[in-house]
Amino acid sequence: MLGYAADMASHTHPTPSEISDVHDVVDEQLRRSRQRYTLGRRELVEVLRSTGRPVTIPELMQAGASQSQSSLYRNLAILEQCGAVHRLASTDDAARYELAEELSEHHHHVVCSMCGRIDDVVLPPAIERALSEAAKEAREQRDYLVDSHRLELVGTCAVCS
Ligand SMILES: [Zn+2]
Ligand SMILES: [Zn+2]
Repeated sequence: MLGYAADMASHTHPTPSEISDVHDVVDEQLRRSRQRYTLGRRELVEVLRSTGRPVTIPELMQAGASQSQSSLYRNLAILEQCGAVHRLASTDDAARYELAEELSEHHHHVVCSMCGRIDDVVLPPAIERALSEAAKEAREQRDYLVDSHRLELVGTCAVCS
């Protein structure tokens, strides 16, 4: 993960919040998929960095994505294919998009069962350790090798409650 790598390096290493660092990673991901990092894709990465939570396509446009809707769909699909962007299902029919964890930080989601809004939640280390322990249970009970985890909390957002 970017944040971790930056912590391990010297103080002169760019922090994960520095724009160039994230763009370098996306550029490399696109290259591996034989795609170019166009201005439209760069704009989407910038807007997704600024929203602070997974957003729908209308929300992406509200947040400043200025490209046509057809370009937006195509660019999102390509960013998703190369691993830079993740698409999330929610409790409504609208897909939501966020930057992949290696471009942000490890987090979990709280989902509104009324309107489908999703917010990010960063959990304390003790809870993360407990979630890692769950991997041992999966191995013992079902013989799975677990390499990551996701946790989704479902409730009612501030607007809907
Ligand atoms: Zn809500
Ligand atoms: Zn976690």
